[in-house]
Amino acid sequence: MDRTDSTAMNHHDRIQAVREEFPDIPAEAVFKEDLLRLGVWFTGDALRAAEDYARKSYFIFSFDRRPLADLDRLPRRGAPEEIRFSGGREDLSPTVVSVRLNPESPWVVDVTEEGQTVLELDGVTMADRVEFAPIPPYYGGSTSDGASLIETAPSIEWGYLLYLTVFRMCQYFNKGEECRFCDINSNFKQQRDDGRTYNAVKPVERIVEALSLILESGAEPGAYTLTGGAVTSELQGKGELEFYLPYAEAIEKAHPGRWIGKMVVQALPEDQVRRIRDAGIQIYHPNYEIWDEKLFEKICPGKTRYVGRQEWIDRILAAAEIFPPQDVIPNFVAGVETAPPHGFATEEEAWASTGEGLEFFMSRGVIPRFTTWCPEPLSGLGREGAQPASLRYHVGLLRLWRDTHERHALPAPRGYGRPGRGHAVFSVSAFMDVIRSQPDAESLTETSPS
Ligand code: SF4
Repeated sequence: MDRTDSTAMNHHDRIQAVREEFPDIPAEAVFKEDLLRLGVWFTGDALRAAEDYARKSYFIFSFDRRPLADLDRLPRRGAPEEIRFSGGREDLSPTVVSVRLNPESPWVVDVTEEGQTVLELDGVTMADRVEFAPIPPYYGGSTSDGASLIETAPSIEWGYLLYLTVFRMCQYFNKGEECRFCDINSNFKQQRDDGRTYNAVKPVERIVEALSLILESGAEPGAYTLTGGAVTSELQGKGELEFYLPYAEAIEKAHPGRWIGKMVVQALPEDQVRRIRDAGIQIYHPNYEIWDEKLFEKICPGKTRYVGRQEWIDRILAAAEIFPPQDVIPNFVAGVETAPPHGFATEEEAWASTGEGLEFFMSRGVIPRFTTWCPEPLSGLGREGAQPASLRYHVGLLRLWRDTHERHALPAPRGYGRPGRGHAVFSVSAFMDVIRSQPDAESLTETSPS
């Protein structure tokens, strides 16, 4: 299926072919998707240049193309959380990208003899300016129980989003039913083995205190995401909602409406979703991951067994009666629908399937969003040697998302910062970068729960 990833083609020809086929997708978005699916590498000089900036915090998954144990033999300490590239021959607009380390990537950040930090593809400069995300003012601090604020509440999306992974493991793994693209538990173990302080469960009080310290520091995030793995039996004697809800309640009690509160949990029954809304959460993410019925069962066996695909869909639609529909945002792992042995054999089939899912949800006002799949080596698919979907597929998918979104006249999703080329900060997919002249939903609406 991967005609543009043919080994006969060099990386520049491959990208050129995709750009010619999709001339309405900005070059910045094409490069961003390629950086996300293939990863990026840094020369020693580039790592030294990145020393005084926010470092990769491993906020939930590894999002690397190699295990830490392999990367340890290479200079990777100090790799930044995100880069923002711009300039170059095409005068690229500033584009924020999450860093996914891969020593074999054709994309490399280097420093020129003149001291300029640049982004290269196969040794050719594509962007002559690369910035690193600034260190948030609260990094280096800790809560009264000694927990570091970086680990407790890392900042991503160029400081826009506080990422609160309050449970760093997922109970789907207990029965080997984890989502096949996911490395959350393996990442937890490798971070611990690497000597990093990485807490499985973060107490509610610590999270609330951390947020107060963040406010005091002068940091100005716009949103927080409350997230972690699924709870299928009990965690600290509680089911999933009873475990996660107190965080939202405590945060919103201490800082009512201060940030756009987002919550990633399973698709829950209506009464439970109401409680999430009533706690003050504004965006609900019942992540759906993959549309096709058969692939959903293969890729998400835990979600299939504990909830079921149809029930998951029904619960998303029910949630869209409780929250404004556009504030129900299920994630799709873009590209995983092409993973062998069960994935689609052609890009056209995969577009048709995911396009059907986008149409289904967007025609009902629900706005799915993407995380670009990068096969992490410690995930189920990664262990089987899965390779990323083609760039052609990812760029075609961006066009499909944008066109479906425009056809239904939907607003830019809230809780992602500003949309559009040169503005977007969402760093793990370019879907926000390809939104064209939409009103800035966050400046126009103060959506309150209905
Ligand atoms: S629900 Fe799936 S994606 Fe989420 S943490 Fe568990 S296994 Fe990973």
